[in-house]
Amino acid sequence: MVRPVIELINKYDAGKFPKGGGYINLSSNENPYPPAEDVLKAIEKSVESVVNRYPDPEYPELKRAISEYLKVDVNEIFLGNGVSDCIYNICNTLIDTLDKVTVPMPSYTMYVMYSMVREASINYKVYPYYRIDFEDFIEGARDSKLVFLCSPNNPTGNSIPVEGIREIVESVRGYVVLDEAYVEFSDSSAIKLTDTYENLIVMRTFSKFFGLAGLRVGYGVCKDDRVVSALEKVRLPFCINHIGVVACVEAIRCLDYYRRIRDKIVKERERVYNELSKFEKIEVFPSKANFLLIKSDNLRLADKLEKRKILVRDVTGLTGLIGEHVRITIGKPEENNALLNALKEILT
Ligand SMILES: *Cc1c(COP(=O)(O)O)cnc(C)c1O
Repeated sequence: MVRPVIELINKYDAGKFPKGGGYINLSSNENPYPPAEDVLKAIEKSVESVVNRYPDPEYPELKRAISEYLKVDVNEIFLGNGVSDCIYNICNTLIDTLDKVTVPMPSYTMYVMYSMVREASINYKVYPYYRIDFEDFIEGARDSKLVFLCSPNNPTGNSIPVEGIREIVESVRGYVVLDEAYVEFSDSSAIKLTDTYENLIVMRTFSKFFGLAGLRVGYGVCKDDRVVSALEKVRLPFCINHIGVVACVEAIRCLDYYRRIRDKIVKERERVYNELSKFEKIEVFPSKANFLLIKSDNLRLADKLEKRKILVRDVTGLTGLIGEHVRITIGKPEENNALLNALKEILT
């Protein structure tokens, strides 16, 4: 029989995927640009040479590359089949039935989903637009086994100040899991705090800044070697495929390319934010990520944009968001222009 708690869990909403051609997909916060030339070459070469072999389950080259990228010790790194898998493994490793897990909302739904699989006692703390009141938060989170934070946060786009993260990490009895999936689009990371605090776990991904969402590679950093070895033990031994390893190692060698496209995306984010701010019927929120949150009361914006072949994410109904909201990924300039033109039609 299926465990009763599983019946209570809502399936992860992955949003809309294009049905056929001609769509502009601004729904999943993907990077709109292709991989660096050398990354494509490395992928092609790996298809020819290594697909009949198992990858080395310790993934030494990948960990070495990540360690150089982040300037952290190789032994502080754990891997997963995307951050999604890291979240799943963290829940499996750290949560016992009825352990208290604190999640400020509105945020990414996977934290709650996999905490529920573990039958955690979930402590939702709602802060409008994820503007966390640290004193209040710490009061309610202190005795948690696990706290999930997201910075920049999905879907609100704002970052948590590093000093606020530090205060939380210092005050919570258990572990703080900080999701930095979008951090390369922002100007502040808390990764340095892992030097000082053993109870901080920072997660990163190759899906957004490095534009490799299709290859499924995520990782995390923690100074506590008991946590890292537990996470490395419970993950599937071959959770990352060989092509993913080769692509990620090469992507880190091509950092200059990825920084250039990041700069383009950030510039576009600011331009689109300014343009959206001019529409009176919607409200747009400042963002440090590669997407923007829009409050669009009763306008059925996602449906109307889909009719114009533009896919955005309807995040209406997410715990902690009141009223209709959509989340729009920053695409290439021409895609963003198509969005702005469609909105002009819909809203004026
Ligand atoms: C996109 C995203 C991720 C990345 O997930 P992967 O499994 O690595 O593709 C992680 N956290 C948040 C909040 C995200 O939006």
